[in-house]
Amino acid sequence: MRDLLVAAQTEESDTAREQTKAEQDVDQVRQRAARDQQRLDSGAVTSPKDLENLQREITSLAKRQGDLEDVVLEVMERRESAQERVAELTERVTSVQSKIDDATARRDAAFEEIDGEVATVTKEREVIAGSIPADLLKLYDKLRGQQGGVGAAKLYARSCQGCRQELAITELAEIRKAAPDTVVRCENCRRILVRTSESGL
Ligand SMILES: [Zn+2]
Repeated sequence: MRDLLVAAQTEESDTAREQTKAEQDVDQVRQRAARDQQRLDSGAVTSPKDLENLQREITSLAKRQGDLEDVVLEVMERRESAQERVAELTERVTSVQSKIDDATARRDAAFEEIDGEVATVTKEREVIAGSIPADLLKLYDKLRGQQGGVGAAKLYARSCQGCRQELAITELAEIRKAAPDTVVRCENCRRILVRTSESGL
């Protein structure tokens, strides 16, 4: 839209120049006709042939002036429509720009909020990670790297929430027997399984 606006502004200034030029042409013809008329009125020209020529020139200049005035009118019309386009496009550019400004402000606010959340969550994670045995944390981080950012998953209704697979009966039986602090893993995706009251054991 800015490109269209620049094009319309260029057309406006071009037609403004064209209008000045056309008006100067009209002026020139008008001045010449006035000079001729003065000479005619002064009585200085007496020869019938010269008078006829002068009269003919005045008539032809009047015709020429009319034609040139039509050109001025035509240029003015084009200039006016260019001015209208400039006004319309200026309004549209302003309106789109204000939408951009608004979206930018909302995006920046969202960034700020997300940054704040990241800082909070990072701090929380540090605290929790500090309370987890080093070897378990190492295993978790390794799995997290291999499994798209999720190293541990809830065992929910006999299914691993990491890979969404239901565990085999024998696997469930083993998990049931395992001590509460034993680290159990999903047979399928190898993620650490977190047992809860909803695990279906
Ligand atoms: Zn799994």
